[in-house]
Amino acid sequence: MSDVFNNELFEAFASASDNVYIYVCDMKTDISRWSKASVDYFGLDSEYLENAASVWEEHVHPDDRAMYNADIMGVFSGKKSRHDCQYRARNRRGEYVWVECKGSVIWDKDGSPKIFAGLMTRLDGQNKYDTLTGFLTTHELRHYDFASLEGTALLIGIDGFRKIVGNYGYNTGDALLVEFSRRIRELGRPEWKLFRFGGDEFLIVAFGAGQDELKEFFEKVGRSVDAVKMSDGRVISLSVSAGGVSFPKNANTREGLINRLEHSMEYAKNSCRGTLVYFSDEIAKKHERNQILREDLKNSIRNGFQGFELYFQPFVGAKSHRIEGCECLLRWKGEQIKDSYPMEFIKALEEYGGIREVGFWVMEQAIQQQVAWRKRYGELQVSFNVSYQQFMDETFEERLMAYVDRYGVDPSYMIIELTESCQVDVPQELAALFDRLRGRGFKVALDDFGTAYASLEMLKYLHVDYIKVEHSFVRELSQPGHDIDHVIINNLLDMCRRLGYGSIVEGVENSKVADIVGEMDVTLLQGYYYSRPVCRTDFEQLLNEDQETPAR
Ligand code: C2E
Ligand code: CA
Repeated sequence: MSDVFNNELFEAFASASDNVYIYVCDMKTDISRWSKASVDYFGLDSEYLENAASVWEEHVHPDDRAMYNADIMGVFSGKKSRHDCQYRARNRRGEYVWVECKGSVIWDKDGSPKIFAGLMTRLDGQNKYDTLTGFLTTHELRHYDFASLEGTALLIGIDGFRKIVGNYGYNTGDALLVEFSRRIRELGRPEWKLFRFGGDEFLIVAFGAGQDELKEFFEKVGRSVDAVKMSDGRVISLSVSAGGVSFPKNANTREGLINRLEHSMEYAKNSCRGTLVYFSDEIAKKHERNQILREDLKNSIRNGFQGFELYFQPFVGAKSHRIEGCECLLRWKGEQIKDSYPMEFIKALEEYGGIREVGFWVMEQAIQQQVAWRKRYGELQVSFNVSYQQFMDETFEERLMAYVDRYGVDPSYMIIELTESCQVDVPQELAALFDRLRGRGFKVALDDFGTAYASLEMLKYLHVDYIKVEHSFVRELSQPGHDIDHVIINNLLDMCRRLGYGSIVEGVENSKVADIVGEMDVTLLQGYYYSRPVCRTDFEQLLNEDQETPAR
């Protein structure tokens, strides 16, 4: 008999709780072991069962069987790694009780399913109301048949709630949630059903109400939390986003409704914070693409970063008119998605955490490239982009130094660009890291400078080598009516000079802009006028041409 069953851990977990039943299945033999408590409570024949999925099916409520079967068959056929559903199961006394059943598969070295282990939580009698807000728990949604009812559901949440908790602490977070739920209750109709969805998200099921009414409600809630006065007198301003779905038009099952609400909410949070977005075909398509994108990216990473490539865009010396370096810009082509722009796939990587590995890959490639070019082309400054999330990775510095040792790069030829500067909320830590990196000889640049208020704020804390002036100020400099951009750039450059920092001006798209910017006190220029980002061989071609051109 498989030794997964003869495990003291199994015994320990099995007796850990009265409401939770555990099971483990050897998928090669289809024999499973169930905890004693589950045998007793559900009246099973023995602790060991053969073909348990179909034995258990007999215990599942006939109305829930199709859903249960679909999910569990996915696991046993090797298509899915996780089982996760809620259904009614018959106990020894013949009563049906709600259970939440979750399990996951452990795979064999050859990729076949080996062990399936999980737990079943009894939901009866408990969890009806959320203890903090008094709203119903989502478990209570099971009472509603969305196919035969009509109305609109909203999933509404506080923007950046985690950050608020980070700034003000858990107690204030809880107090805000109570206040937020109170406003929802006050502004909604009494017949609407209110659920705490988890964290800062609340679900409103408005039977008989249309999208317009819910939009009006959403706007009222938004206005009411614009300035929330706390018991200690502090005033906190909240912004809220929501996803909305009409039932049964857009969803006629509980799962479908929740899914679509989540997709719409995600869309609202990502693209137009502070608004209510109703489910549409466009959202469905976007969500589907995002799912494929993630899978595709994970596959690429698993296959040794296949599909990832660095492109290079020259930095041209404002005085020398020669290529003095380049920025490494990431490109990616997946197996399925072949047309993704950096803005899209880098965002996806950041959302699920894949940026960590990819970021280290970029770092290694950039360093190797600098070393290879140094031998052939002399001194070139090579920059690569690092987001705040990457910088804060505990192993960032260690990995960087390991690559320096491995490839023997001189750090003074590497520029590290900090992107998305506006999201920085621990400048002291970042400042210390920048100082250490600069101490080791690296150059550090603040990217997209001028786009966010925080950029200026950051200069108070951070010491850098370059400031990169964002291309939106630069691109249209040569066109009439852009005097203000002149003033902004001149002042930014003046500030750089006074602080002793170099400057890189991005977005030089034509000769007129190149001339205008060339007159200013700039260190390096970058833009389509000199070259778009290009692959390695094309960049080397540019370097060769540059070397053959006589000095101006
Ligand atoms: P960024 O760092 O601001 O990069 C400059 C972007 O401006 C590049 O877009 C580049 O192609 C574009 N650009 C350059 N010259 C011009 C011009 O004259 N006119 C216009 N309109 N655009 C110009 P790209 O390559 O699509 O990259 C977009 C963003 O993706 C980058 O913005 C950067 O934030 C991010 N990114 C790219 N590679 C990496 C990476 O390896 N790691 C991280 N974390 N982010 C990266
Ligand atoms: Ca950059």
